[in-house]
Amino acid sequence: MRTDNAAYVERDLAHVWHPCTQMKDHEHVPLIPIRRGEGAWLEDFEGKRYLDAISSWWVNLFGHANPRINAAVRAQLERLEQVILAGFTHEPVIRLSEALTAVAPAGLTRCFYADNGSSAVEVAVKMSFHYWRNVGRGEKRRFITLSNSYHGETLGALAVGNVELYKDIYQPLLMDVITVPSPDCYERDSGESWAEHTRRKFVHMEAALQRHAHETAAVILEPLVQCAGGMRMYDPVYLTLLRAACDRHQVHLIADEIAVGFGRTGTMFACEQAGIRPDLMCLSKGLTAGYLPLSAVLTTEPVYAAFYDEYVTLNAFLHSHSFTGNPLACSAALACLEIFRSDGVLERNRALSARLGERARALQDHPHVAEVRQRGMIVAAELVRDKAAREPYPWQQRRGLAIYRHALSRGVLLRPVGNVVYFMPPYVITPEEIDLMVEVAREGIELATCA
Ligand code: PMP
Repeated sequence: MRTDNAAYVERDLAHVWHPCTQMKDHEHVPLIPIRRGEGAWLEDFEGKRYLDAISSWWVNLFGHANPRINAAVRAQLERLEQVILAGFTHEPVIRLSEALTAVAPAGLTRCFYADNGSSAVEVAVKMSFHYWRNVGRGEKRRFITLSNSYHGETLGALAVGNVELYKDIYQPLLMDVITVPSPDCYERDSGESWAEHTRRKFVHMEAALQRHAHETAAVILEPLVQCAGGMRMYDPVYLTLLRAACDRHQVHLIADEIAVGFGRTGTMFACEQAGIRPDLMCLSKGLTAGYLPLSAVLTTEPVYAAFYDEYVTLNAFLHSHSFTGNPLACSAALACLEIFRSDGVLERNRALSARLGERARALQDHPHVAEVRQRGMIVAAELVRDKAAREPYPWQQRRGLAIYRHALSRGVLLRPVGNVVYFMPPYVITPEEIDLMVEVAREGIELATCA
């Protein structure tokens, strides 16, 4: 049997329908079959290696085939692979809940599990709505969201998100939400600071809350970075103002830390940079260091208490997924938190993100790069047709795809979002690998913008 790349590609394309993909593209865009991974590198079936500059869709934190996480999952596998979490429990989920509530913003003491990010958002949305119903405020059933936000692909998550490309076609299936302009600092006036712009944008949120608080269950947002919306960033002051406004208007604050949690923005959770505690916090991706599907919604005692009652009141939160709190996934998450605890990860990341920022800022001089922005271990460069006017390239030209292809040929996995080239590497990346990643992006930008 053939074991070259082409053989796997042929077999794959005969049956596999890939996510987030126009399958016809694979008539000309190569599909890369991966046989193994190690650290920040992936290797195909012919031995070609790719530096994983996007952490395999923002999930991987400590490298592929990490020996410590492997050992933890292997040990758990010998004991218990899966058990129903209703009526039964197991040691990894107990220990993980203790560990998560210890590192999360104080007051988030209750953990509800699911098995992917979108499901965590569904849980948070349902839980908030249901809370208000249980406390006799059933009219509070709407959600406020930011323009350009992303919260996942299932219908509830899609409804509270706002990226047109993913949402528009399904609009007839979605609940109606209240959308407020994002504080996105790419749109700030020249000379305006991030904090000034962010504060200025908050007036829209305040107005929406004043008008709709009586019928609103929660505001949901991605703290500090709107990732799928093109790594657009804003100042922490927005979160501070929002926390105060949500308290004033009696509306929940749902922080979707699925992409930004676990050290991505420089602190364990992005909310910490504003010193706030959300009412519900969604976690996934880095929760298991990118090993296994798992998600969690952390919430407070008051929210938990509103569901705690005699069965016949039917106030219980009856949401469930078969693989809720899977023991293997929980053991990977525990190993991940142990690495954070023992290895000074956030400290080491400070040096890495300084290197990344310093190298990537050189891209700013390119005639087709309007902005290079950074928050911790996320750095993004915004490509434009006209730098002075900040006029974007038409999306149909797919400039990002040209960069993706160039990077692959040079052994780097970059996956621009539209006209935004970004770096979101695993935390085990070395300074030399950072230099390679940025250099290859620079070549790709050159190539993609020369005509
Ligand atoms: N929220 C955010 C902020 C995300 O970035 C994502 C995934 N990119 C999701 C939710 C959805 O997570 P999943 O893909 O695991 O459903």
